[in-house]
Amino acid sequence: MAETMIPKATAKRLPLYYRYLNFLANSGTTKISSTELSEAVKVDSATIRRDFSYFGALGKRGYGYDVTDLLKFFKKILNQDRLTNVALVGVGNLGHALLNYNFRQANNIRISAGFDVNPDLAGTIQSGVPIYPMTDLIDQLRQQQIEIVILTVPTDAAQGITDDLVKAGIKGIMNFTPLRISVPAYVRVQNVDLATELQTLIYFLDHYGPTLKDT
Ligand code: ATP
Repeated sequence: MAETMIPKATAKRLPLYYRYLNFLANSGTTKISSTELSEAVKVDSATIRRDFSYFGALGKRGYGYDVTDLLKFFKKILNQDRLTNVALVGVGNLGHALLNYNFRQANNIRISAGFDVNPDLAGTIQSGVPIYPMTDLIDQLRQQQIEIVILTVPTDAAQGITDDLVKAGIKGIMNFTPLRISVPAYVRVQNVDLATELQTLIYFLDHYGPTLKDT
């Protein structure tokens, strides 16, 4: 299976399909048409058919898609059958919220270690996750073979910590700080700037009204 050939836009929609298929399977639904799937995940059915065609012909005309088959398939592609351990650096308000969020339910992701500079937090267990001092950052990440880190520290601390994460061999950073952190080319960064996202939403509402569609 040439997974590397899947276009980025398609890859981004996979978790969306996966979540919904999981929901269908849990409610006992065994088949679904691309039209039904389209309405549920708000992706047009032509796009869904094209997306699915990258994985080989999975649908049958007049029958639709077999939910269990699709689910098995997506599980493999998304590596859902393996648990991914992720670390979180910065156990403040946002960090706590993410520690409490059940990533595992839908995605088999688990935050297995937290780090914070605050001595009141280091050495404690928060929402079932051990919190280590920053002095243990590199060692612990290496020992636990963690490759992905969620960064929820103040902006001014972000770059320094990022440099340590790179030293520890991290491959991906989910950056919740507004800083555009610098990393070597082999490290991937996903930026999630909640304030900017909200501002963008407000801007679009103010300028284009509530019904703008981007498709
Ligand atoms: P937020 O909602 O953004 O988490 P907050 O008000 O809870 O904000 P911040 O000041 O943004 O707290 O700090 C987030 C967390 O990062 C805190 O728990 C803080 O102790 C921790 N922190 C601050 N500086 C560092 C650092 N250099 N290394 C690691 N953790 C840090």
